[in-house]
Amino acid sequence: MNWNQSKIKNFQKDMLTWYNANKKPLPWREHTEPYAIWISEIMSQQTQVETVIPYYLKFMKKYPTVKDLAHAHDDELLKLWEGLGYYSRARNLKIAANQIMNDFAGGFPSDIDDIKSLQGIGPYTATAIASISFNQAEPAIDGNLMRVSSRLLEIDADISKASSRKVFDENLRKLISDEYPGDFNQSLMDLGSKVCTPKIARCEECPVQKYCQSTSKQTQYNYPVKTKKLKQKDVYYLAFALENSLDQYYLEKRSDKGLLANMWTFPLIEVPKEEYDKVIKDQTRAKIPHSLPDTVSRTQFVGQATHIFSHLKWHMALIAGQPEEYEIKEKTLLDYQAWLSEKDMEKTALAGPQVKLFKLLKEEKI
Ligand code: SF4
Repeated sequence: MNWNQSKIKNFQKDMLTWYNANKKPLPWREHTEPYAIWISEIMSQQTQVETVIPYYLKFMKKYPTVKDLAHAHDDELLKLWEGLGYYSRARNLKIAANQIMNDFAGGFPSDIDDIKSLQGIGPYTATAIASISFNQAEPAIDGNLMRVSSRLLEIDADISKASSRKVFDENLRKLISDEYPGDFNQSLMDLGSKVCTPKIARCEECPVQKYCQSTSKQTQYNYPVKTKKLKQKDVYYLAFALENSLDQYYLEKRSDKGLLANMWTFPLIEVPKEEYDKVIKDQTRAKIPHSLPDTVSRTQFVGQATHIFSHLKWHMALIAGQPEEYEIKEKTLLDYQAWLSEKDMEKTALAGPQVKLFKLLKEEKI
């Protein structure tokens, strides 16, 4: 980047003026308290800001301080997170809250390396907190900032490569305002979400069009440079909705490691694609696996649901069944198994795919 100091100062001034006049009114922008900024940043990862607002307000009401979060009950915390997805974020928040209580005497650390040492806080979140809450001139580099700055400065580093971050960091460090680094970062975030969006660059509305190197050459859509993403891997499951005569459903808790850890679902049995396709095609009685209550009778194919993760696509064929009476009364359940009514499920941390399966079951039953 070969801008002189006066051009950089003018650019900062124009961005900050535009931001102050147009900033999105978000509840966490009412102050710069690091706990609130942290929660909002973690919730906003992979999630639209409009979706985050009600979750953020509920979360701050339930856990207004780091101490409250450190003492949160796991099931309640996950229940509050239900619908936001990527549940490891919620689990990491609690772990980090305990780190703050134990390693920093309950006070949110201000040193950038200390912030990065907290569970679940990566470089972007650490720099967002450091700039917004502690006024440190740290560029908060996420997809938005990379897109906007790559168009502004014609940066052709491939944004899908981790090594490109250094290139963006070097350029944005020259641009960031020392006086208002938090507002400067947020001004670029807002520009990226409102004006210089992935699909449309509204250059005629852009407050910094005169500085933009790509717009004058009409090359803005060549940026950011990005190699193709890998396709999600398809995984196939038979899901079993077993309902007893007390209107309860049999659910299992997933293991405490890996995808959807500690969340509850109908039993899910992974099967090869051919077997899955056969169940869908025949819609016939599916064999209940040995691990489930073994006297289930009258099984029936209900329908299909899919759930997409960043790297996987789950295809789920839902099969309903009813166990014999003695199964419910006499079988001793292990602590990862439960018969739950619909009301019980409202208080239980359900995995995203489970919410879809239960919705499908209810729709098909009506
Ligand atoms: Fe993006 Fe256009 Fe503004 Fe350049 S002028 S930053 S391409 S919106």
